[in-house]
Amino acid sequence: MTKTAPRLYVACLASYNNGVLHGRWIDVGQDADEIQSEIAAILRESQFPNVTVDCPECDGVGCTECGDTGKVASAEEWAVHDFEGFGEINLGEYPDIEEVAALAAAIDEHGEPFLAWAANASDNRDPDDFQESYSGEYDDLADYVTDFWEQAGWKPVEDHRQWWHPTRYIDWEAMARDLQLNGDVWTAQSSDFRTYVFQNN
Ligand SMILES: [Zn+2]
Repeated sequence: MTKTAPRLYVACLASYNNGVLHGRWIDVGQDADEIQSEIAAILRESQFPNVTVDCPECDGVGCTECGDTGKVASAEEWAVHDFEGFGEINLGEYPDIEEVAALAAAIDEHGEPFLAWAANASDNRDPDDFQESYSGEYDDLADYVTDFWEQAGWKPVEDHRQWWHPTRYIDWEAMARDLQLNGDVWTAQSSDFRTYVFQNN
């Protein structure tokens, strides 16, 4: 997976409907308010305004932007015509900008495991839910199972005289398979072929 900072291509729909491509890429690794104001700027630059909006420049008298009317022309509607850096998450054409900003922040913080989790179900979006579900990165699921029991106090063989230690006779692979079949956990493969383990809760 290439590491691309999440961004959206926002297009002005009035322009689009008039056969003109007007829009640009917006970095969404910032607050929703900042994203909204970049979208508003795109719409105000439209050749096909259909509404008036509050002037963004007014801070007193003598505004050259609006001639002190407090209003400027703008196109009203926009759509997302492309996006990248969201893995397999499909934002659609009309995403909620608050949600986009929250997703971008979670991707920035948690990276690839978050993208794998979010790709697994369309309601996997909340970073708190992710942290509850994600158990970490392992060689494979058997590695997770072994680690789980070691954390729980099971000691692997350390003494050569104990070659007949029970650890040598445990089928970790079979335990891993059953854990997954039982629906307790699910896994996703990382780009370097390691295994992300998630709890089904
Ligand atoms: Zn103004």
